[in-house]
Amino acid sequence: MILSSKIQQLQRMGRNTRPAENHKDKGHKNGHCNRTACQSPNSVTWYNHSTRLYYCPSCANTLNSVNADWAPTEFGHALCTNEE
Ligand SMILES: [Zn+2]
Repeated sequence: MILSSKIQQLQRMGRNTRPAENHKDKGHKNGHCNRTACQSPNSVTWYNHSTRLYYCPSCANTLNSVNADWAPTEFGHALCTNEE
């Protein structure tokens, strides 16, 4: 009984941390950020040269930092570039 209520609590938390469903223009230029947990509609002009989809400035900045060790060698520039 205690375990099942704990599972239900975790399921509720999971639902609250992500959108009910993805936006149709998720990852599209000037649509919604491609990161599922973000999906911001603001300034989605940052092109990811690996996924070939678009991200908001905040997620693009994070992606560029996390991938700074290999992306510049692979692409000759940061992983995400602004196509504003
Ligand atoms: Zn984002």
